[in-house]
Amino acid sequence: MGLQISLSAITDNWRSLAALAPDARPGAVVKADAYGLGAAQIAPALYAAGARDFFVALAGEGRAIRPLLGDDARIFVLSGPLPGNDLTGLIPVLNSAEQFFRDRVTRPKGAFAIQLDTGMNRLGMERAEWAAVRSEALSAVTEAGEGPALVMSHLANADEPEHPSNAAQLAEFRAMTEGVSAPRSLAATGGILLGADYHFDLIRPGIGLYGGLPFAEARAAVRLSLPVIQTRTVAAGESVGYGFHWTAERPSRVATVAAGYADGILRALSGKALRLWAGERACPVIGRVSMDLLTVDVTDLPDIPKSLTLLDERQGVDAVAELAGTIGYEILTSLGPRYPREWV
Ligand SMILES: *Cc1c(COP(=O)(O)O)cnc(C)c1O
Repeated sequence: MGLQISLSAITDNWRSLAALAPDARPGAVVKADAYGLGAAQIAPALYAAGARDFFVALAGEGRAIRPLLGDDARIFVLSGPLPGNDLTGLIPVLNSAEQFFRDRVTRPKGAFAIQLDTGMNRLGMERAEWAAVRSEALSAVTEAGEGPALVMSHLANADEPEHPSNAAQLAEFRAMTEGVSAPRSLAATGGILLGADYHFDLIRPGIGLYGGLPFAEARAAVRLSLPVIQTRTVAAGESVGYGFHWTAERPSRVATVAAGYADGILRALSGKALRLWAGERACPVIGRVSMDLLTVDVTDLPDIPKSLTLLDERQGVDAVAELAGTIGYEILTSLGPRYPREWV
């Protein structure tokens, strides 16, 4: 019952992605609480599997996992230093000339990484900015006697292998980092799948670790089973739930289960082909998804089980995302805190 998170699926996925880029160091992106699945459990499991390079979005996320990892783990903060951040033991990714020069004043010997914008226009230094910073950045020496920990960029369309921007960003990254001896990184999950040209020195897989597309070979990392609270008989012509969104066409048995849009089962899934599983049998979700509850047509089940399964390898986060008109990333990060969680 509840949300079961398979640490072995996640570490297997990490090893599989690492094997696709044998010449690169395999990092692990654990931002947003490891895509909603629990960074406090997942980051140490990946560390035990051999990961040493972790990526979070915000310094606070890095602070939370710092004590859980060995001293040789590096934790990169993708959004860079923000006002009030304590960056002790973390490596900020500096995204602009302004961030770079301010950081050299506030932490002259602190470890840092540089992000370049190669076309996504979201984060990172553009050509002119980089030209102004480059020689100082590349000759900076940290406490450990090193230069920049990483020079990185991010792809905008890596999940579409045919998109011309992939090759364009690759060419721009090469041009901007020519002669740079610091380690370079360009590929997240999608970029890893684009092939060796995109791998450079370090890869940064996120979604693929957690079983999501575009890593189609991933092992499913989550299983979500919901308790049945009540069942009732509904006569033909009677309706169920808010707005009477569903009306029985035959005498029906309806189960009410404990999860709703407050738990990440998006209301946009109402009236779509979402199913809950009782063993091998699929039962359609009917009526509107409400805040705390879902209603399910269980008429064809011989027995009503204590729980019904919403997510597993048969209906994964991407299948649910497709029904809701979103992406697996959003389904994962929306899974709420009310489910009992178990890491297996
Ligand atoms: C989120 C993120 C990643 C991981 O992306 P996935 O598509 O989940 O593999 C890598 N790099 C950066 C800069 C990111 O923001």
